[in-house]
Amino acid sequence: MRDPRYDILFTPVQIGPVTTKNRFFQVPHCNGMGHAMPLAHAAMREMKAEGGWAVVSTEECEIHPTSDLTPYVEARLWDDRDIPALALMCDKVHAHGALAAVELSHNGPTASNLYSREVLIGPSHQPSKYGYPSQARAMTLKDIREYRRWHREAALRAKRAGMDIIYVYAAHDLSLPMHFLQRRRNHRGDEYGGSLENRVRLLREVLQDTRDAVGDRCAVALRFATEELLGPEGVELSEAQDIVGLIAELPDLWDVNVAAWYNDSVPSRFAAEGAQEPFVSFVKKVTTKPVVGVGRFTSPDTMVSQIRRGVIDLIGAARPSIADPFLPRKIEEGRVDDIRECIGCNICVSGDMTISPIRCTQNPTMGEEWRKGWHPERLSPKRQASRVLVVGGGPAGLEAARALGQRGYEVSVAEARRELGGRVTREARLPGLAEWARVRDWRVGQIGKLPNVSVYLDSALSAQDVLDFGAEHVVLATGCHWRRDGFGRSNGLGIAGLADHPRVFTLDDLMDGRLPSGRVAVFDDDGFYYASIAADLLHQHGCKVTYVTPEDSVAPWSVNTLDYRHIRKRMAKQGIEVHVSHGIVAFDGATLTLENAWDGTMSERACDAIVMVTSRLPDDALYQALLLREAEWSLAGIRSLRCIGDAEAPGLIAHAVYAGHRYARELEEPSAGEVPFKRHFHAASADNLRRDG
Ligand code: ADP
Ligand code: SF4
Repeated sequence: MRDPRYDILFTPVQIGPVTTKNRFFQVPHCNGMGHAMPLAHAAMREMKAEGGWAVVSTEECEIHPTSDLTPYVEARLWDDRDIPALALMCDKVHAHGALAAVELSHNGPTASNLYSREVLIGPSHQPSKYGYPSQARAMTLKDIREYRRWHREAALRAKRAGMDIIYVYAAHDLSLPMHFLQRRRNHRGDEYGGSLENRVRLLREVLQDTRDAVGDRCAVALRFATEELLGPEGVELSEAQDIVGLIAELPDLWDVNVAAWYNDSVPSRFAAEGAQEPFVSFVKKVTTKPVVGVGRFTSPDTMVSQIRRGVIDLIGAARPSIADPFLPRKIEEGRVDDIRECIGCNICVSGDMTISPIRCTQNPTMGEEWRKGWHPERLSPKRQASRVLVVGGGPAGLEAARALGQRGYEVSVAEARRELGGRVTREARLPGLAEWARVRDWRVGQIGKLPNVSVYLDSALSAQDVLDFGAEHVVLATGCHWRRDGFGRSNGLGIAGLADHPRVFTLDDLMDGRLPSGRVAVFDDDGFYYASIAADLLHQHGCKVTYVTPEDSVAPWSVNTLDYRHIRKRMAKQGIEVHVSHGIVAFDGATLTLENAWDGTMSERACDAIVMVTSRLPDDALYQALLLREAEWSLAGIRSLRCIGDAEAPGLIAHAVYAGHRYARELEEPSAGEVPFKRHFHAASADNLRRDG
């Protein structure tokens, strides 16, 4: 039964000619599948609709070859041949009573045109955004008329595909209507440049065009960035207030957020739930139209508060809908503690960034709906009554135990420590990573509801213990530890003399509360968030921190999770000295010798300790010991033994959760064949090759 306090979340909202069934709105989000993997894309969107989202939107949708986003894979509506892929999505979304939305976009100077080879266009002559060595040319008045025609035609195509809500996009620094608003991009002297009224002209026209084209049946939404946090070069809050005032009633729906993407989908390390409120709350005071906003909302109390306080009308979500496509249904059914809360790690974002299908730390089924047939809530029941021993209660072990338990297996989890969670419990104690504990908490909560899963803490198992236990299946999820010897991408033989040095620390030391003091160098040969967290922690601990990396930039992989700029800003604010392109050649406990990666020059500095963040080693001693005793397995009743997660190969938390989930799904199931998932063959199908070849 639903808690009556949440009733307001389930009231309909009128958006122009359409009405939502509730207030849950999956706003546009990229997914790395887009037009290249339409079946996978449609199935992923369908899952949101099935889970109760009233509106399910595409990611940004290219409207014309002059806005080609290659290598990124987004939605596409260049011509009629692109309609069926989105029609498929619409059908699947409609089947669950949800509305479908599409975010039409022409990215002007922030496109690439690497595929189409068209010349980029923009309000004025300017460099392309992403560092491609090319420029966009200034649009003529004829170009502007053409752009408006392309947008109108794309809107008509979207309507034919079955879309209910058509977006005009002016957010994220990614689309022409926004580029025309920005002083730094729009230097025009005609009626489209200069005064605010002129810079708003194109946005106003496109909104009007879209309404004229499709407004009889479709709602027109405007995605609008109210602040770019760039000062007067960007759209600032005060100007955004004027803009909203000028066109307040033109769209049927205001979808408001902060730009650019790294200020919108801020990792939880740098922003809490509801962080955008100060930037968007004014909109509802200026317009009578409904407003949707985002804030990584996972708490129904926060959602209700947002609505009751008049901040927004619809609860917008990208990440919370990825982590739990069934979030609305769970609130509706009074199962709030079943919500798999997003942890704000942005591994989902890395799918788009690395041009690969979306994945999620909390929801291992994300992106696997079509190709593996995985459903986030349903697993097939076990085929026979087997017992499974799970060794290790980190993300891999907990997810395996939870999913095996859901399948009906008799499961025992043995954890060496006195607490569950493994790495997520330990990392959650580091600065800013508290939400990592949600990976543990959701699984522990679910396991608590399963009478067939038993958990044993303080139970470090030996090989003999495992053999004596008497389970038919054994899965080892015993984790990993950070190396002390400097071995990593840049030092294939480690760093001489450091493996046993008493003043060399690892992240495990830090997480266990063994912190160095004084002048500390953090050596990052890993490239993701860990070293920057170590620097943050040591700074807070009063150390004088120097960050050293052989890479040419700080934490380079963190670009893929939108952490990068926030990390750099925090390091700068903390006064952390940064040495990129440097390796460590020697350390004697008092002096650190660095070598410039490009010219080989050596430099020395006073240093009391080093924290090595280079690579990790699996804790697989138990696995190795059991492999040596394979001959004894059958006598012990063991039919299968697997090693998964960080104990197999250290990786992201997302890898560990996925490994646990996959193990549980596949146990005692027939093997899936050589390639363990369905593939898209549309481009190279026999029909296509015959027709177009
Ligand atoms: P993963 O990310 O793969 O889940 P973690 O390092 O987070 O790995 O978790 C591994 C867990 O396994 C840790 O909590 C650790 O204490 C536990 N563990 C390691 N070896 C044993 C063992 N022999 N018996 C029981 N638990 C173990
Ligand atoms: Fe949230 Fe991380 Fe999942 Fe993205 S990957 S939805 S940030 S838990």
